[in-house]
This record gives sequence, C-alpha cells and structure tokens, in this order.
Amino acid sequence: MVIHNALKKSYINILWLVAIYFNWISVAWNIAKDFTAWPEFVDPTIERNVWFAMICYAAYIIVHLPLLIHLVEVEIKYGFYHCEETSYLVHHLTHGIKRLIPVGLCAGATTWALMKLSSKSQQEQMIVFGSMSFVFFVLYPTIEMWALLRNEANTFDVSAENPELKRSIDALCDRVQFPKEHVSFLHSRSRSMHSSAFFYGFFTYRKVVIFARLIEGHSRSSPEKGLPNRQIEAVVSHELGHWKNLHSEKGLIFWHFMQISTALLVLWLRSKDIICQAFGFTSDPLNDGTIIDDRGKEYLPGMVIGYYLILRTYHNFLQTLHQIQQREYEINADEHASELGYGTPLEQALIKIVIDHEAFPSADQLYSLFHHNHPCLLQRLQKLQEHHEHHHHHQNSQNHHHHHYQDKNNNSNGNRH
Ligand SMILES: [Zn+2]
Repeated sequence: MVIHNALKKSYINILWLVAIYFNWISVAWNIAKDFTAWPEFVDPTIERNVWFAMICYAAYIIVHLPLLIHLVEVEIKYGFYHCEETSYLVHHLTHGIKRLIPVGLCAGATTWALMKLSSKSQQEQMIVFGSMSFVFFVLYPTIEMWALLRNEANTFDVSAENPELKRSIDALCDRVQFPKEHVSFLHSRSRSMHSSAFFYGFFTYRKVVIFARLIEGHSRSSPEKGLPNRQIEAVVSHELGHWKNLHSEKGLIFWHFMQISTALLVLWLRSKDIICQAFGFTSDPLNDGTIIDDRGKEYLPGMVIGYYLILRTYHNFLQTLHQIQQREYEINADEHASELGYGTPLEQALIKIVIDHEAFPSADQLYSLFHHNHPCLLQRLQKLQEHHEHHHHHQNSQNHHHHHYQDKNNNSNGNRH
C-alpha cells in the first residue's frame, strides 16, 4: 500500500515535470482555441476555458492509464480483486468519460466567477474568499452537525442505561463550567467509525460528542468493547480541554488564513506577465517565436500554474504547520484532563481505543511531521507522564527534591526494561 502510494506520487510528479518541460499547459490552451466554435451562444473566453479543462481532464485519464494497468496487474496477482483486467479498465474509462460533462460545467462556473473577481479590488476579493471560506468551513459543517444532533434517531439518552455516568459527566461539566446539555451521545453508525469522541463548535455553538462504541460495554457481541465510566469521563475531560483552550477557534483562524492567502496569491500570480511567460503564455512575438495570444483570458491555466506548480509548496507548508498546531492541541487537551485528575484513566482509555482501532502505537517522527494531525499513542502517554511528574514535582516541597529525583531515575530505568 505504501509502495503503491509512493509509486503513484513519483509517477504524477514525473508527469508534471514533463508537462512543464514541454509547456503542455500552453499547448492545451492553444488546442482549446481551435475547439472554440460557438461565440454567438457562449462567451468565447468561458468556452475556451471549458475546452481547456476538458482537454486537461482527458489527458489526465490517458496519461494515468499505464499506472492504472500496472496497479490492476499487481492487484490481480497479489490482491483480493478478482476481475478481468480489461473489464476493469473499460469501467475506468467510461467512468472518466461520464465525468467530462460535470468537469466542463464546473470549469465554466469557475471561469465566470474568476472573470468577475479579477476586475474587483483586492479588498473585495478578500471579502469574497473570506465569505466562501466561512460558508465551506464554518456554516456548512455547523448546519450539518446541528441537523445530525437534532435527529433523535442518531442520539440516545445515556442516563437511561448508565445513570452514574450521566451524573459524573454532569458534575465534570459543572466543575469546568461547561453547559452540560451540550454533551451528546451518538450511535456509532451515524458517523465515521474511526472516531470515539470529538469536540465541535465555535464561540457559542459548542458540542462534546461521545460515540456509543465507547460506552457499549454490555453489547452481547463484543462485551469487551466499552470503557469503564471513569475512562469515559477522562475522554470527556480531554474534549473539554479543546473547548477550554479555544482550540477550534484558533485552528479556524489559521485555516482561514491558509485558504484566503492561497486564493489571493493564485489570483495575483495569474496577473504577473513574467510567471505566465515562463510557462509559455506570451503576447510578445520576439520572445521565442511561439505566440500565445489572448493574454489575460487564460483563467484556468492561470489557476493550474498558480496553484499546482507554484503555490502547492506554500500550501503544503502551511498545512504542515497546521498539523503541528493540531498535534500540540491534543497534548494540551490531554494535560487539561490530567490537571482535572484524569491522567491515569485517560492513559488507559487511549490504549484501549488504539487497540480497538488496530492503530499502530508508534510513528516515525519525520513521517508524523507531515502526515498526522494526532500524536501517536506512545508520544501521548509519554507527554502525559511527563506532565504528571512535573505536576508532582511542583507539589513537593524543596526538602523532598532529592528523593523525587531518584524516583524519577528509577522510573526511567523501569521504562527501559
Ligand atoms: Zn483531541
């Protein structure tokens, strides 16, 4: 699987290099001009951009065929997939051709929006991108969450089957002054099976959601699955740590900055002649003999160059920063749980959850840096213990300092064995 991904990535990167070397983007743009035929019905700029997108999409399907043939061969030889190679490829091709029309429609709509946006001032562009980002990443998911929790078929009342748990969670909420009616219990089937609990919300809309799989200890099929009450409280106190430290608000600000700045930079790069010339778009006949006319109308080629070829690195860099921040937040939320006295039950709960998900408890640091938004289990346990020791250290008076130090040494020896 990992090798498949590595192969796919290198294949795609090599294709991009070939495309840049031979100026394929401007070649596709020139071909699109020959296709443009209905200036009386459709705006010619929009039509040409739509043809450009469809040519690129068709080229994408074709150049991926060798990779796909290879992957299907490997799958048939070693994997679980039992099907004739040709029927799989035919299925892939027809699927691709069916998607050409939606690709064209999206391309048309995007071009139209970009034409409108390009004539606006930078402040107005910022407002447009800002509100788009708000709709996609705040409004839509919040409405989705509201609808999910409002539907009584999805949620259940925990006090009916586990009144003690309900009582202690209410007490925990009172302790940190979190409104207890905002803790919801969700049947596991209604959302991703990989989640056990999460915090969602901004400012006044906040929800701690606990999945039934954490509680369902008494289900006959898997009596071992659920966690003891104390460990569930520990998980809730972790989620409350996200709420208390305003993690979703802070994360959202960074996320918006990332989306808006990337979008603005793409638009700005598109307007720069030197960038477009570098990729074969020029109206200057002296340049190298290839005259690409209609400079200024290549909205979608500008997006491809700006985003995929130049800003992808910038975007990936910000995304890595975002993940570093997210992993830090998980540690902070764990510390919040530890401060409330749930350090040990949280450790036990984390171990149980990781075993349930059959996740690998350790990760390579460099790999984790780029790919994970949660720290691995061993790292979380280690941080929890460090935090616990640190806390313990502060509570001890100076007289006990030496003794404590020795204790710590013994501990670290014990861990090594
Ligand atoms: Zn968390």
